[in-house]
Amino acid sequence: MLVLGLEGTAWNLSASLVNDEDILCEANAPYVPVSGGIHPREAAQHFADNVASVLRQVLSSADLRSIDGVAFSQGPGLGPCLRIVSTAARALSLRLRVPLIGVNHCIAHIEVERWKTDLADPIVLYVSGANSQVLSYRQNRYRILGETLDIGVGNCLDKFARSAGLAHPGGPKIERLAKGSRRCLPMPYVVKGMDFSFSGIVTAAQNALTSATLEDICYSFQETAFAMLVEVCERALSQTDKSELLLAGGVGANKRLQEMLTIMTAERGARFFSPRPEYLQDNGAMIAYTGLLMLSHGIQTPIASSGANPNFRPDEVEVLWIT
Ligand code: AMP
Ligand code: MG
Repeated sequence: MLVLGLEGTAWNLSASLVNDEDILCEANAPYVPVSGGIHPREAAQHFADNVASVLRQVLSSADLRSIDGVAFSQGPGLGPCLRIVSTAARALSLRLRVPLIGVNHCIAHIEVERWKTDLADPIVLYVSGANSQVLSYRQNRYRILGETLDIGVGNCLDKFARSAGLAHPGGPKIERLAKGSRRCLPMPYVVKGMDFSFSGIVTAAQNALTSATLEDICYSFQETAFAMLVEVCERALSQTDKSELLLAGGVGANKRLQEMLTIMTAERGARFFSPRPEYLQDNGAMIAYTGLLMLSHGIQTPIASSGANPNFRPDEVEVLWIT
């Protein structure tokens, strides 16, 4: 089977062709804000300007008649961006006369990792710009065991970084600055059951800008926010009796978060999988591969229900490909 995938939930517009064995090609057109954070309308305009070009790049290497389906990121993400991507995917599927497959972006992050590793049945910590969730597969669904009660940890890092005068994306800059400190300032540590909240840390960190060094604030921010995530992951492993943990999403690049999860899983005798660098960032291959899994299990998205779904939750998807 050969499936074309189109990703475009927030900042990276990416197209890829994938078959059952491997990723055949990928073309990317990342949106880089001139100033400030991601502006939905500007990002969507960038996608509209580049979607024909990324599609042309991946299709030029293929025999169009051999394509079995067109998959696209249906959500979660920024509405204006998702609308560009779903419109392009609909047009292509009609033109090629092949099925359309609307893919949940979060599930795609998980499935591409399961494909490329020997992971069996992990607890997943999905930490991206807008989302922070702890997930676990059970009876045909990825269940959300815990999640942020307000903003995603990535947006929280980016928001504080902007108020400290650091350019978007803030996560990597905060990671670098945090290496220059070992002084942990008190910050709101908010875990409620299996859920967590980050907005209080942003306020505390912004307030501390007048009295502490940027290095100390970045260090304290990371230590507090990541400890909350590690606590919930440990409880998820304990309560489900699972023995694998997968980290996914852009914040998963953070070496300190990886280190904290490595320590926790080692103490429990569990296996830890940090994201492979090539799938860390949003990519078309993960959408194409998940579309291939869905299509090979009879799942298609009729045009009438192929609209953008900005709040698409992973537990809405019936997972028929795991037995
Ligand atoms: P995504 O939404 O999955 O594309 O991830 C983007 C988010 O990842 C942004 O909020 C970035 O600031 C964040 N990010 C990227 N690299 C790092 C890092 N090394 N440490 C923390 N956050 C990061
Ligand atoms: Mg992502």
